[in-house]
Amino acid sequence: MSDDISRDVFVRIQADLLVINDSIMTDRHHASNGNYEDNDPQNQIGGIIPAFSLSGWLRHGMEKVIQQRGGTACHPGEANANFRKDGVYNRDLDAGYHPKGECLEDDDSNGCVIFDLFGGFGNRPGKMMRRPIKFTPVRSSVDYTRGQAEGHYRRLNRNVVSRNEDDNREPLRNVELDAVANLDGCWHLSFRETKPEFIALLAEAIDFLDEHQMDFMHQLGGARNFGGGIVDCHLVNPLYEEHELRRVFDRGKENTNKMAQKDERWENEYCPTFESALTERVEEAP
Ligand SMILES: [Zn+2]
Repeated sequence: MSDDISRDVFVRIQADLLVINDSIMTDRHHASNGNYEDNDPQNQIGGIIPAFSLSGWLRHGMEKVIQQRGGTACHPGEANANFRKDGVYNRDLDAGYHPKGECLEDDDSNGCVIFDLFGGFGNRPGKMMRRPIKFTPVRSSVDYTRGQAEGHYRRLNRNVVSRNEDDNREPLRNVELDAVANLDGCWHLSFRETKPEFIALLAEAIDFLDEHQMDFMHQLGGARNFGGGIVDCHLVNPLYEEHELRRVFDRGKENTNKMAQKDERWENEYCPTFESALTERVEEAP
């Protein structure tokens, strides 16, 4: 059954405001034509949201799914790293984690399912590649089938002002933030190998993150105290063909009957099979 699933899957991501600290890369040097103003709403600036924050956000969701199923998840930090807070690492280990790579029994083993997907220990690549999201404010030029999104880049300014009355709220310092507003698009993930438990874990983690989008811990990127990083997310049915994937984002069109049939098959046939593969893998984990 997992042979029916392509190596490329897509997660729909919608957020009113996303702040990826200082790591959004823009193409403003192309857009500016010499007279660029950061905050001019007429700017047609696109850019790239790197996958690092997205990956950490997804991984945390996957860890929770494994823990809810009674397993332990690979800790993302190297066991021999010099953590700033020793006690915190050990507390994590007591709260549903095992040290990274401890699940590798020998050179041929794949480790736990989190390790299998994310890799990173002893130079092993993970089996899931997380791509950056390319965004543009021009909806008609967004190619959803290539993991792109509509999004509007803005540079935000925050002033920290003096609290002393004599200073009349004089700014003490100014912070600039790169932000993407009204993001709606696809995050493209590619499996180097498609295993049924991978798909189940991805599907369950995306559901978990969607349900917990208001939890501080499961929001994405920075500025979370200010409502940034609240993400609506859904796994786009992996049975869809490209034209069906595009239709999901077409506000003027409803899903076709064929898409509805695929949704039903996904729900009733594929998901239960993949979920039992995940159950088995979590149960047999060392
Ligand atoms: Zn592990």
